[in-house]
Amino acid sequence: MAFGFAQAFRTFGKLALAGAIGASLAAGDVGAEQKTPSPGSAKALFGGASLPTQGPAQPIGFYAKGCMTGAMALPTDGPTWQAMRLSRNRRWGNPAMIALLERFSQDAVRYAGWPGILVGDIAQPRGGPMLNGHSSHQIGLDADIWFTPMPARSMTAKEREDLPFTSMLQKNKFLTVNPKVWTESRARLLMLAASYPEVERIFVNPAIKKKMCDTWTGDRTNLGKLRPIYGHDSHFHIRMKCPPGAAGCTPQAPVASGDGCDKSLAYWFTPAPWAPAKPPKPGAKPPKPPREVMVSDLPKACAAVLDAASVASMQAATYGAPSAASALVASPATAPAADAEEDMLPDVGPLPNDKPTIQ
Ligand SMILES: [Zn+2]
Repeated sequence: MAFGFAQAFRTFGKLALAGAIGASLAAGDVGAEQKTPSPGSAKALFGGASLPTQGPAQPIGFYAKGCMTGAMALPTDGPTWQAMRLSRNRRWGNPAMIALLERFSQDAVRYAGWPGILVGDIAQPRGGPMLNGHSSHQIGLDADIWFTPMPARSMTAKEREDLPFTSMLQKNKFLTVNPKVWTESRARLLMLAASYPEVERIFVNPAIKKKMCDTWTGDRTNLGKLRPIYGHDSHFHIRMKCPPGAAGCTPQAPVASGDGCDKSLAYWFTPAPWAPAKPPKPGAKPPKPPREVMVSDLPKACAAVLDAASVASMQAATYGAPSAASALVASPATAPAADAEEDMLPDVGPLPNDKPTIQ
């Protein structure tokens, strides 16, 4: 609380081109992300699974290193939601997550003055590392929700592929929420999502967290669940706790107490998180690119998850009663189109080593 934003801004005042620096950092990540995964890599194998396993639902491992069994699909349409980017086949989650999304979408209409939610990526049918984008979303307990409200009519599959993201940030300004697009209803939506006890974290852009810190006048008990991170300016990311009894699920450390409107936020308004990687010394060997993640890097049980029998059909594993709208299926996901905004930066990190824990 004591750390002033004015101070943070003063420190940072000279770096007027911070946006450009951020963008160049992002461009580097795009290059890394868009390399096609090698056949046999965990990304290729889990990205190639088109249906979930049969049997009970289990998250296995950690949000950014794991897989899942017994996933359910969120129907493409509900009274208060529409799923986006259907071709990616990432509507799969732990049933607790799918049930939460249904409830959240209803509550959003009832209590947040929001017309319904657009749901982005949840997870692949068997979880695991994704073909592209995200470093987390691997165990069915992460879901992306757009800051764009649901339209009154059901969008076609093509519209759901093509609808562009709308950033909540002001262009050409460093980490500033755009007052022309940001609304109180979005603030209510975030705090509603944070109100569920089973929700542990909500990732948002640091500018959005700051906006919430500065303007939220309601109960601030759950404000600390809003975690500042790169990207996340056109969608927010809901992360659930490991469900009770999920023995194979590796929990994340709980968030620190308090509203998080403190040093851990001010840090994002300094140059450190946006500094480009140091260039290698002249004559030094270029660093090896990181090795691809293999199935053997994941928890042992994930190899069996890949081999396990599938459910009979997508319909058979879709949440709730089969609805006509669930027939809305776009072409299968062989090479999902990458959304620039998501691929620019991973969901978690890169996290600097020498700084306070920000997750
Ligand atoms: Zn996400």
